[in-house]
Amino acid sequence: MNAPSFSKHAVDSGNILKRQYFACLIRFAFYPIALGLTLLFIYLETLRALSPLGKAYPLYLGLMISTMLLLEWLVPLRSDWAMTWRSFLRRDLPMMLINGAAIAATTGGVTAFAHWAITGPIRHTHLLPWWGEAVAAILISDFMWYWVHRYSHEGQGPVGHWLWKTHALHHLPEQVYVFMHVVGHPINSAYVRIILMAPSIALGFSEEAIFAATVLTGFQGLISHFNVDIRAGWLNRVFMGTELHRYHHSADPDEGKNYAAVITIWDQLFGTFEYHPSMHPTALGVNNRAFYPEDNQWGPLMAIPFRVTPIDSAQQRSISD
Ligand SMILES: [Zn+2]
Repeated sequence: MNAPSFSKHAVDSGNILKRQYFACLIRFAFYPIALGLTLLFIYLETLRALSPLGKAYPLYLGLMISTMLLLEWLVPLRSDWAMTWRSFLRRDLPMMLINGAAIAATTGGVTAFAHWAITGPIRHTHLLPWWGEAVAAILISDFMWYWVHRYSHEGQGPVGHWLWKTHALHHLPEQVYVFMHVVGHPINSAYVRIILMAPSIALGFSEEAIFAATVLTGFQGLISHFNVDIRAGWLNRVFMGTELHRYHHSADPDEGKNYAAVITIWDQLFGTFEYHPSMHPTALGVNNRAFYPEDNQWGPLMAIPFRVTPIDSAQQRSISD
């Protein structure tokens, strides 16, 4: 009678051990490998080795997202932060459609402006190679986003309060996972896109540089919301990844720092770098959730930036309860 249960126990223990080894491998290997493959993809695309520039991007993105979704299902960091069918259908999918439209419209507008600008007032000078321009593009756009983002959380004037109203939606979820990345107000998506593209266009950077900066920014945005225990080690001193951005989503406003999107230099320089190796926040979201509409109250959610009631200002996350 004992033998079957003993062997079942042995099989269970074996499975648990295998899962632990797998989780450990993913923990330390996934980020460097995914980052390396992203940089390799960018390089091959600039050589047109895979396709005309950018044509292979949907394939890269599909493979990257599929892998990350699979890992979130196999070895989630917190099962209570995991995506569910309910959260996907009720919140994430509509958000993808709304923000996809906002990003497409903004990209179209900025591209049309760029087309006019590069045939008119802006001349390509190319003082740097494409990769040097890509680094410059990330440094500049991340600097701009750092201050806009920080002011939207900490600014106490009317501009700061309004920026928070456009950004608050991204902080309402009490989970982080890959598809949660798309949750946000379309006004927020539009100005993020402008901040990402405008400096490179104004400086006349090459299409390779703009492509490289856009792909790397997209990769960091995805991986920042990854619900798997991955560790970047010393790379946290360079890139704004999973361990750091999770703290930005902490429900505790004192932990909600790390304002940049791609690199950590600006947070380290301006004193908002929050890094606690091997740890993660205990609760995510805003510290006063009851003041905000529910996930499926689309009218009130979209109206947040246009509300002028005093209570909206009190939702600023820098104002602690
Ligand atoms: Zn934020």
